[in-house]
Amino acid sequence: MTVQQREQALSRIAEHGVVGAGGAGFPTHVKLRQPVGTVILNAAECEPLMHKDKELLRHHGELVVRGLVQAAAITGAHKVVAGVKGKYEDVIAGLQRLLPGDGVVVPLGDTYPSGDEFVLVYDVTGRVIPPGGLPRDVDCVVINVETAYNLGKDEPVTDTFLTVAGAVARPCTVRVPVGVPFSLVLELAGGATVSSPRLLSGGAMMGQFVGPEDPISKACGGVLVLPGDHPLVRRREQSWQQIARIGASACDQCSFCTELCPRYLLGHPIEPHLAMRTLGFVEDRAAAVRGAQFCCECNLCTLVACPEDLDPKRITVHHKQALRAQGQRWQAQPHPYRADVTFADRRVPMRRLIQKLGLGHFTNEGPLLEQSALPAQVTLPLLQHTGAPARPVVASGARVRRGDVVARPAPGALGASVHASIDGRCELFEDRIVVRGAARGGS
Ligand code: SF4
Ligand code: SF4
Repeated sequence: MTVQQREQALSRIAEHGVVGAGGAGFPTHVKLRQPVGTVILNAAECEPLMHKDKELLRHHGELVVRGLVQAAAITGAHKVVAGVKGKYEDVIAGLQRLLPGDGVVVPLGDTYPSGDEFVLVYDVTGRVIPPGGLPRDVDCVVINVETAYNLGKDEPVTDTFLTVAGAVARPCTVRVPVGVPFSLVLELAGGATVSSPRLLSGGAMMGQFVGPEDPISKACGGVLVLPGDHPLVRRREQSWQQIARIGASACDQCSFCTELCPRYLLGHPIEPHLAMRTLGFVEDRAAAVRGAQFCCECNLCTLVACPEDLDPKRITVHHKQALRAQGQRWQAQPHPYRADVTFADRRVPMRRLIQKLGLGHFTNEGPLLEQSALPAQVTLPLLQHTGAPARPVVASGARVRRGDVVARPAPGALGASVHASIDGRCELFEDRIVVRGAARGGS
């Protein structure tokens, strides 16, 4: 690819608003700007009960591989690798058929958190990304399955795929216009099977509570529906005062949380038991545990490791946020980081994790439903990505067609464009654009 072709391809990706579809929503045109030797497809999908990536690969593998090959061409990578759990033999066989001659599938163990970018890069290449670093620091770029699909599709991102799991009549994976409410995907899954359901966008381990009328963004990979009295809900509802008070009195410093922390096991200077120890001090707790800034928020320490049911993850993240607010950053060390020799043995098997989380009675499947009726209205948040909110380029009352740009990043700002996901008329708010379709008399 010539320099000019590369720039054209990157502008097209930016114009289409492609972002990382694995949660953070990092703008893909920025990620692919750096030359690297290896492009890795992250198909590890390790949030319990989530199946979007497998379903996309089963039904749209050609587009995913097309996008992956395009990412390799743009970055100049000479190697394309897909990390997929070994138990999905049909997905691996399909990928092996579709990948170019030098493409490789690396079968991964069925463990958590095999989809963490740092863990995946280590599993696939044997290289450890340094603390606070990026895959490009070890000559790699990691692309999520839906991101590769969107690259391969080469159109504005107007739809998103997500799994609807847990307490619903028919767990499934759906394709819906960006900006529909979570209540709509619950309907597509046959409705909740419990009264007063709670929704965890993103899943059991790393998800966040959302309301039924909150809009679904481009970066949402799934929603887990739980009864309000489920232990996962109750633990997340504990206040900071509760977890700090109980943590200060009940933590026996056994350090099991550190012993299972995947970033600690990759050789990073993070030790959640030290974060817990700070609860006994009164001053400058965060400065005592600078390694907290490398927490990937996987939640293993809290939901699996701690025998006392304490919350070392939240304590660690609290320090991480304090360090960020203070502008304190880890100074990069020159020596390479090495994973602990026991790392492979300290992964948490998915089956055990599902049981431990109290999810064993839910269906662990998510077949893809492609068809859904267009909604009467969508709500498009201006911030669905890492960086600054996009700026509207339409006025209230403007008529738009599905695929039209309605907001763009400010010049020079990190961000991604936002597109209308249905035909209709726009209404602007401070942080979002609502598009009302013909069914509501808007167009
Ligand atoms: S595992 Fe629990 S009890 Fe042990 S050090 Fe960590 S927070 Fe404390
Ligand atoms: S959530 Fe806990 S286990 Fe995960 S990276 Fe952070 S400290 Fe380590």
